[in-house]
Amino acid sequence: MSRRVVVIGAGAVGAACAFVLAREGHRVVLVEPGPPGGAQAASHGNAGWISPESVVPIATPGLWRKVPRLLSDPEGPLTVRPLALPGLLPWLWRFLTANATAERATRTSRALAALLHDAVDRHQALAAEAGCPDLVVRSGHLYIWRDRAAFETDRFGWALRRAAGVVWRDLSAEELAQEEPALSRAWRFGVLVETGGQVCDPSALVKAYVEAARRLGAEHVCTRATGFRLEHGRLRAVETERGAIDADAAVIAAGIRSGALARAAGDRIPLASERGYHVMIRDPEVSVRTPVMAADVKAPLTPMTGGLRVAGQVELAAIDDPPDWRRAAILERAAASLLPGLPRPLPRERVTVWMGHRPSVADGLPVIGGSRASPDILLAFGHGHVGLAAAPKTAALIADLLAHRPPCIDLALYSPARFR
Ligand SMILES: Cc1cc2nc3c(=O)[nH]c(=O)nc-3n(C[C@H](O)[C@H](O)[C@H](O)COP(=O)(O)OP(=O)(O)OC[C@H]3O[C@@H](n4cnc5c(N)ncnc54)[C@H](O)[C@@H]3O)c2cc1C
Repeated sequence: MSRRVVVIGAGAVGAACAFVLAREGHRVVLVEPGPPGGAQAASHGNAGWISPESVVPIATPGLWRKVPRLLSDPEGPLTVRPLALPGLLPWLWRFLTANATAERATRTSRALAALLHDAVDRHQALAAEAGCPDLVVRSGHLYIWRDRAAFETDRFGWALRRAAGVVWRDLSAEELAQEEPALSRAWRFGVLVETGGQVCDPSALVKAYVEAARRLGAEHVCTRATGFRLEHGRLRAVETERGAIDADAAVIAAGIRSGALARAAGDRIPLASERGYHVMIRDPEVSVRTPVMAADVKAPLTPMTGGLRVAGQVELAAIDDPPDWRRAAILERAAASLLPGLPRPLPRERVTVWMGHRPSVADGLPVIGGSRASPDILLAFGHGHVGLAAAPKTAALIADLLAHRPPCIDLALYSPARFR
């Protein structure tokens, strides 16, 4: 049955939903105040990894013990704005405890694997249909450590990956040097995950999905959604800053701004921003062939069409706090240490920086499913570090829900009802 569906937000998740739903014959209205693919969205500036191996919850058992050391390192990958801390404490407590036992972390890992195992295939299929097959490639992913002993300290995460069916190949220092000649020789052990993929220009991919949806009849209304009009539990319209839009279904895919809309639909989801930054280096003197992640500095390097992108950092802060560009400078220094052939300092005219919000649900899983207020309002947000990768599968699940088909995976673990 064709429905009039308002998709709220045109990041990777909303864009993929709009495309897949339009393809299914629904009349789609995409509500998004910014340009699709624009810098307002996390989907614009991420590292571009489509990683079936990202099945390890961020807050693994024992993380809380490492937090003081991580926070005291001014060049480290994690920081918390002191003034934001009181407001973040309830989320932070849940975040640190939700996966604090091996059993719970394994359960979360299985749920992430179900969302991600076929992510590269799904993106490649969607990108081909959208007319931009070259934007998604099976590049492989290279993880590196100073030595094998350092890799062994990460064994819990790699055991979870093995259990999820992820396969990799160890690389010695010599093999690493052969694979990635520009990398510093200070990292002497590597793991190559050949099944990993990457998006060569995440912003262009989001734009292409929205364009493909428009070719199928979807309409983009440039405004902000503010709430819902319901009658006897059925959706009648989505309220926006430019008036009401008639709808008989809605998908909340507004990234970090989804919390308020979910509340308007009766659900309180523990959602916070794990902010991240990127530094984009145009025409770099040296680069990597494969996306590379150094386990200690946690600053993934991704070769993209626009240059070399180093994206990372987790900064816990209030959503509207201004960016702290010192975090981007840390990424720039990390890139210089990984790639000694880059000039120091980098020529400013070839460098751009960006900050965005990973929409992070405290238990490490997105919310995908019907709202408390109405089965017509679906939640599709909170994908944290993997929202680009998980967008096509999320869209397929939303399409299943709207069509009342049995979903292709068990949705219980992602249900918003887990917080009721
Ligand atoms: C530094 C960094 C690196 C990352 N690297 C990766 C990676 O390599 N791989 C990966 O899979 N993920 C990565 N991520 C995470 C990924 O970017 C996010 O999970 C993903 O982009 C979230 O997509 P989204 O569509 O839910 O939200 P967004 O991309 O943030 O889009 C939400 C959209 O909703 C719109 N919106 C907001 N409020 C409203 C409203 N009221 N009405 C209508 N529209 C609204 C916004 O304008 C925005 O365009 C990274 C994130 C960061 C910050």
